[in-house]
Amino acid sequence: MSLLKKLVKPFLVVAPYVARSSQTVKYPDERLVFSERFRGRHRLDLDKCIHCGLCARICPCASIVLVPVEGREGKYPQIDYGTCSLCGLCVDACPRGALTMTDFVEFSAYKRSDLVYSPERLAEVPDIKEVLPMLKRRIKPVLTDKEMKYEVVEEL
Ligand code: SF4
Ligand code: SF4
Repeated sequence: MSLLKKLVKPFLVVAPYVARSSQTVKYPDERLVFSERFRGRHRLDLDKCIHCGLCARICPCASIVLVPVEGREGKYPQIDYGTCSLCGLCVDACPRGALTMTDFVEFSAYKRSDLVYSPERLAEVPDIKEVLPMLKRRIKPVLTDKEMKYEVVEEL
Protein backbone atom coordinates (compact mmCIF):
# COMPACT_ATOMS: atom_id res chain seq x y z
CA MET A 1 0.00 0.00 0.00
CA SER A 2 1.34 3.39 -0.97
CA LEU A 3 2.03 5.99 1.64
CA LEU A 4 -0.82 8.16 0.29
CA LYS A 5 -3.33 5.27 0.59
CA LYS A 6 -2.14 4.54 4.12
CA LEU A 7 -2.74 8.15 5.07
CA VAL A 8 -6.16 8.45 3.41
CA LYS A 9 -7.66 5.06 4.35
CA PRO A 10 -8.43 5.82 8.03
CA PHE A 11 -10.36 8.92 7.02
CA LEU A 12 -12.40 6.94 4.47
CA VAL A 13 -13.29 4.37 7.13
CA VAL A 14 -14.37 7.02 9.64
CA ALA A 15 -16.19 9.37 7.22
CA PRO A 16 -19.54 7.48 6.97
CA TYR A 17 -19.84 7.35 10.77
CA VAL A 18 -19.28 11.10 11.08
CA ALA A 19 -22.30 11.68 8.83
CA ARG A 20 -24.57 9.46 10.96
CA SER A 21 -26.65 10.76 13.85
CA SER A 22 -25.22 10.68 17.37
CA GLN A 23 -25.52 7.44 19.38
CA THR A 24 -24.97 9.26 22.63
CA VAL A 25 -27.76 10.09 25.07
CA LYS A 26 -27.11 13.50 26.61
CA TYR A 27 -28.18 12.46 30.10
CA PRO A 28 -29.31 14.25 32.28
CA ASP A 29 -30.59 16.72 29.67
CA GLU A 30 -32.15 13.79 27.82
CA ARG A 31 -33.49 10.57 29.26
CA LEU A 32 -34.47 7.37 27.49
CA VAL A 33 -38.00 6.02 27.65
CA PHE A 34 -37.45 2.54 29.01
CA SER A 35 -39.46 -0.52 28.02
CA GLU A 36 -42.71 -1.23 29.87
CA ARG A 37 -41.12 -4.21 31.59
CA PHE A 38 -38.10 -2.25 32.83
CA ARG A 39 -37.33 -3.03 36.46
CA GLY A 40 -36.57 0.18 38.35
CA ARG A 41 -37.55 1.35 41.82
CA HIS A 42 -40.71 -0.18 43.27
CA ARG A 43 -43.99 1.54 43.96
CA LEU A 44 -46.15 0.21 46.78
CA ASP A 45 -49.91 0.70 46.84
CA LEU A 46 -50.64 0.72 50.56
CA ASP A 47 -54.38 0.26 50.01
CA LYS A 48 -53.89 -2.94 47.98
CA CYS A 49 -51.42 -4.63 50.34
CA ILE A 50 -52.94 -7.39 52.50
CA HIS A 51 -49.81 -7.94 54.65
CA CYS A 52 -49.39 -11.54 53.48
CA GLY A 53 -45.59 -11.34 53.47
CA LEU A 54 -45.17 -13.31 50.24
CA CYS A 55 -42.91 -10.60 48.81
CA ALA A 56 -40.56 -10.91 51.80
CA ARG A 57 -40.60 -14.71 51.68
CA ILE A 58 -39.71 -14.97 48.00
CA CYS A 59 -37.01 -12.29 47.97
CA PRO A 60 -33.69 -14.06 47.17
CA CYS A 61 -31.69 -11.20 48.67
CA ALA A 62 -33.62 -10.94 51.94
CA SER A 63 -34.14 -7.27 51.14
CA ILE A 64 -37.75 -7.04 52.37
CA VAL A 65 -39.04 -6.91 55.92
CA LEU A 66 -42.61 -6.12 56.91
CA VAL A 67 -42.93 -3.11 59.20
CA PRO A 68 -45.85 -1.23 60.71
CA VAL A 69 -47.12 2.01 59.18
CA GLU A 70 -48.42 4.78 61.43
CA GLY A 71 -52.19 5.13 61.24
CA ARG A 72 -52.69 1.80 59.45
CA GLU A 73 -53.28 -1.75 60.56
CA GLY A 74 -50.97 -4.60 59.64
CA LYS A 75 -47.41 -4.57 58.35
CA TYR A 76 -46.13 -3.47 54.96
CA PRO A 77 -42.96 -4.19 52.98
CA GLN A 78 -39.84 -2.12 53.53
CA ILE A 79 -37.12 -2.60 50.91
CA ASP A 80 -33.37 -2.25 51.37
CA TYR A 81 -31.94 -1.11 48.03
CA GLY A 82 -28.47 -1.72 49.40
CA THR A 83 -29.07 -5.43 48.76
CA CYS A 84 -32.05 -5.57 46.35
CA SER A 85 -31.06 -6.87 42.91
CA LEU A 86 -34.24 -5.51 41.25
CA CYS A 87 -35.05 -9.05 40.13
CA GLY A 88 -38.80 -8.42 40.31
CA LEU A 89 -39.74 -11.69 42.05
CA CYS A 90 -41.55 -9.83 44.81
CA VAL A 91 -43.71 -8.09 42.22
CA ASP A 92 -44.54 -11.41 40.54
CA ALA A 93 -45.39 -13.02 43.88
CA CYS A 94 -47.67 -10.27 45.18
CA PRO A 95 -51.23 -11.61 44.92
CA ARG A 96 -52.80 -8.13 44.95
CA GLY A 97 -50.56 -6.26 42.53
CA ALA A 98 -49.64 -3.95 45.41
CA LEU A 99 -45.98 -3.91 44.40
CA THR A 100 -45.04 -2.68 40.94
CA MET A 101 -41.80 -1.48 39.41
CA THR A 102 -41.22 1.91 37.88
CA ASP A 103 -38.63 3.18 35.42
CA PHE A 104 -37.13 5.25 38.23
CA VAL A 105 -33.38 4.59 38.56
CA GLU A 106 -32.25 7.83 40.10
CA PHE A 107 -32.10 6.76 43.76
CA SER A 108 -28.44 6.49 44.65
CA ALA A 109 -27.47 7.69 48.12
CA TYR A 110 -24.37 8.61 50.11
CA LYS A 111 -25.38 6.55 53.15
CA ARG A 112 -26.49 2.91 53.16
CA SER A 113 -29.25 3.78 55.60
CA ASP A 114 -30.76 6.12 53.00
CA LEU A 115 -31.23 3.10 50.71
CA VAL A 116 -33.73 1.54 53.11
CA TYR A 117 -37.17 2.55 51.84
CA SER A 118 -40.05 2.52 54.29
CA PRO A 119 -43.52 1.56 53.03
CA GLU A 120 -44.53 5.24 53.04
CA ARG A 121 -41.47 6.12 50.94
CA LEU A 122 -42.18 3.24 48.57
CA ALA A 123 -45.70 4.55 48.12
CA GLU A 124 -44.38 7.82 46.75
CA VAL A 125 -42.36 7.97 43.53
CA PRO A 126 -41.24 11.54 42.94
CA ASP A 127 -41.72 13.34 39.67
CA ILE A 128 -38.58 12.86 37.58
CA LYS A 129 -38.23 16.64 37.24
CA GLU A 130 -37.76 16.90 41.03
CA VAL A 131 -34.66 14.71 40.79
CA LEU A 132 -33.45 15.89 37.39
CA PRO A 133 -34.50 19.55 37.12
CA MET A 134 -32.24 19.91 34.08
CA LEU A 135 -34.13 17.22 32.12
CA LYS A 136 -35.39 18.72 28.86
CA ARG A 137 -36.75 15.82 26.83
CA ARG A 138 -37.53 12.12 26.78
CA ILE A 139 -36.22 10.23 23.80
CA LYS A 140 -36.50 6.73 22.38
CA PRO A 141 -34.25 4.76 20.05
CA VAL A 142 -35.54 4.03 16.55
CA LEU A 143 -33.94 1.43 14.31
CA THR A 144 -33.81 2.05 10.58
CA ASP A 145 -32.25 -0.18 7.89
CA LYS A 146 -28.99 1.69 8.17
CA GLU A 147 -28.67 3.05 11.68
CA MET A 148 -30.11 3.64 15.10
CA LYS A 149 -31.22 7.16 15.92
CA TYR A 150 -33.20 8.85 18.67
CA GLU A 151 -36.66 10.40 18.41
CA VAL A 152 -38.03 12.95 20.85
CA VAL A 153 -41.06 11.50 22.63
CA GLU A 154 -41.76 14.39 24.99
CA GLU A 155 -40.42 17.92 25.54
CA LEU A 156 -40.42 18.86 29.24
S1 SF4 B 1 -36.77 -6.97 43.37
FE1 SF4 B 1 -35.96 -9.02 43.91
S2 SF4 B 1 -34.24 -8.57 45.28
FE2 SF4 B 1 -35.46 -6.70 45.17
S3 SF4 B 1 -36.86 -6.78 46.90
FE3 SF4 B 1 -37.93 -7.70 45.15
S4 SF4 B 1 -37.50 -9.91 45.26
FE4 SF4 B 1 -36.03 -8.87 46.58
S1 SF4 C 1 -46.91 -6.14 48.93
FE1 SF4 C 1 -48.10 -7.86 48.13
S2 SF4 C 1 -46.91 -9.71 48.63
FE2 SF4 C 1 -46.12 -8.03 49.90
S3 SF4 C 1 -47.24 -8.18 51.83
FE3 SF4 C 1 -48.38 -6.73 50.53
S4 SF4 C 1 -49.89 -7.96 49.45
FE4 SF4 C 1 -48.40 -9.40 50.30
